[in-house]
Amino acid sequence: MDTTTLICHLSVFAIAALANSIMCGQRMVLAARLLASVFGAAVLVAAPAPAVAQIDSLPTLRVRAPATLAAAATRLELTPTAPLGTAMTLAGLREPGLPIDVILSPEDSDLARGTAPWISGFANAAQSRVVLFPARVGAFPAQSIETLLQHEVAHILFARAAGGHPVPRWFNEGLALAAERPIGLSDPPRLAWTLVRHGKLSLFALERLFGDGRAANQRAYAVAGALVQDLLRIHGDDSAARVLALIGEGRAFEDAFSAATGEPLAAAVDRFWSRQHLWRRWVPFLTGPAFLWSAITLLALFAIAAHRRRRAAQRRAWDAEEEAEIARVATARLLESDPDASGSSYDVH
Ligand SMILES: [Zn+2]
Repeated sequence: MDTTTLICHLSVFAIAALANSIMCGQRMVLAARLLASVFGAAVLVAAPAPAVAQIDSLPTLRVRAPATLAAAATRLELTPTAPLGTAMTLAGLREPGLPIDVILSPEDSDLARGTAPWISGFANAAQSRVVLFPARVGAFPAQSIETLLQHEVAHILFARAAGGHPVPRWFNEGLALAAERPIGLSDPPRLAWTLVRHGKLSLFALERLFGDGRAANQRAYAVAGALVQDLLRIHGDDSAARVLALIGEGRAFEDAFSAATGEPLAAAVDRFWSRQHLWRRWVPFLTGPAFLWSAITLLALFAIAAHRRRRAAQRRAWDAEEEAEIARVATARLLESDPDASGSSYDVH
């Protein structure tokens, strides 16, 4: 269970617990339980990573770094290579091929200066080399040096599976995102925001988005990740390998896709966009930890306000009782001093 999922589960529990312990109104408890059940169901949507097919060996990595990045290099050298099995499976490779050089580049290097600052790494399949900029790790889509390594090595493996033939950027990046983390966790809030803000994109527009600066680049990754994830879900984890193998035989991407999946590419893309209904746009927001904690805070504030209203009403009731008692005592005293008085206000005056 990752941190986000854990937070979501804790939030669900907290909402229900808060409702049961603080609120007295049955309607509020019901509403809170409904919220909890909706969120509880929603956080269980993450699907597992692709099953690892028969793999004879994993890629050999040769990490190279200047002394200033020795710590990051050591960290990568100690990182298990087993997660690269996901990329191997998606590529459909049993053997990874030649060793891959992993170059860690500091920000003051010519390589870093010559690369747009939002690019945290890149792969050169022809040279069997990936370059990582450790100082740029942390922003989407490079969330850690380990996942960045998986991502870039995946590009090398996909290129090998495709025999060096060109693969559309959106497909390549979407697959690399699927290779670096469990499927189903490709940043749904970012995709949701992209859909709400920008709507449907053609593949042509998506391809161009990768080269349009930092924000556009991140939107392109979010859409490509979700689109490829959807294609893998519909056509199976091994469908990408079939597409890449056909590209390796010299088939054009669109032709390879329809031959490998039995579905025309345009139909598959249309189906993806038609599935992005309104509720799919908003559920990721509603299940995000920020929203859940906001909901908890609002529920707590509501409960406090309700409690204060009840206490104020109680105090008003007590005041009324006191005033009534004072009036009753005053009337009794008046009647004691004047036995003829009836007690009505007209008669007292
Ligand atoms: Zn990439």
